[in-house]
Amino acid sequence: MNNVLIIGAGGVSNVATKKIARLHTVFKTITLASRTLAKCQQIAAEIKAEGVCVQTAQVDADNVDEVVALIQQTRAQLVINLALPYQDLPIMDACLRTKTHYLDTANYEPKDEAKFEYSWQWAYKQKFEDAGIMALLGCGFDPGVTQVFTAYAAKHYFDEIHYLDIVDCNGGDHGKAFATNFNPEVNIREITQPGKYWENGQWLETEPMEIHQPIDYPNIGTRESYLMYHEELESLVKNFPTLKRARFWMTFGQEYLTHLRVLENVGMTSIQPIEYEGKKIQPLQFLKAVLPEPSALGENYSGETSIGCQISGLKNGQKRTCYIYNNCKHQDAFKDVSGQGVSYTTGVPAMLGAKLMAKGIWFKPGVWNVEEFNPDPFMEQLGSYGLPWVEIIDQPLPIEKEYN
Ligand code: NDP
Repeated sequence: MNNVLIIGAGGVSNVATKKIARLHTVFKTITLASRTLAKCQQIAAEIKAEGVCVQTAQVDADNVDEVVALIQQTRAQLVINLALPYQDLPIMDACLRTKTHYLDTANYEPKDEAKFEYSWQWAYKQKFEDAGIMALLGCGFDPGVTQVFTAYAAKHYFDEIHYLDIVDCNGGDHGKAFATNFNPEVNIREITQPGKYWENGQWLETEPMEIHQPIDYPNIGTRESYLMYHEELESLVKNFPTLKRARFWMTFGQEYLTHLRVLENVGMTSIQPIEYEGKKIQPLQFLKAVLPEPSALGENYSGETSIGCQISGLKNGQKRTCYIYNNCKHQDAFKDVSGQGVSYTTGVPAMLGAKLMAKGIWFKPGVWNVEEFNPDPFMEQLGSYGLPWVEIIDQPLPIEKEYN
């Protein structure tokens, strides 16, 4: 897999492409393509200053024929999809037609319905297997590293894992009144959805942001954290059937939630098209156009993220707990690749997943989620690429702490 094609040139791609460009012995030819060519050229120019040449191209990844032509022209053996979740299926179709491997960081969503599930992509499993090609799904941080953390804990510390809480805190400050840390449209669709978690063999639904509680985050402190549905829960409960409960929590500041409530109340977060000056527009897409780009938040971002897995279960018949997490400082991310922490925590795992695929360490034909591979090689290398992790065994989990 010497030749790689990266699609999308936003915040995550800025990080992943720069990190991939530093893997001289793994990827020999890198092409960066996106809808807006100028964004690819900007990233390529910054990489050129480090002495590596990245080719650039314009592509509309909704159009399978265009992606097929680009794969053929670049002779790519691996496509890394860092565009938006809507492009997952057209790019997977193009990979099938050209027998090219595939990696992404977010599961497919139809444009006209905010619905997060793996069914569409899992349906490609047999076709990918028959073609002898591999797709690695959701190789960012969450989804991505959170599943590797879970698989690592299950492998090394437990006989059975029973309770999983994925906790995601952005304790940073970008200095803007309101901005999202990754693509605003995808982000707002996600957090305005009903909450959902797994308990005793079934999915339980909540109102959006209905369940919340304070959680203590290392080096950050206590932050109000909201139970949300997050896509990796779906694959984790399938791949770890001993789980009795699996939940996902994310922090939001009051200022963010107030802005969001106002935007929702005035209809700006809707994905139902409206008529405006004779043209159909989607209010949420219009909102995206006026909000800051995630890639533009890095320079003055202070503080850090903390994302991890708090797990309890059994080892030799005794209760055991394990908390594995990474903290990432926005300024460290900026120093490394001129990006912010949320893009960084996504782009670095995408690079590492691609590296493990290319080296044949994580490789089997078919469509896979990251926890289906041996977590050890990923865990061994993650820290050296900028995301060191910490594990705490058999201590009370922060999620279990009572606040009064
Ligand atoms: P951005 O909005 O910054 O970047 C998205 C890029 O995709 C833009 O360059 C955009 O082009 C391009 N794009 C959009 N549509 C098309 C198309 N039809 N054809 C070609 N290119 C297209 O988003 P992020 O970088 O923040 O996020 C990228 C992906 O990473 C998203 O899928 C997001 O959900 C995922 N993500 C995953 C996380 C994880 O932990 N797993 C965390 C954060 C993000 P243009 O510039 O023209 O708009």
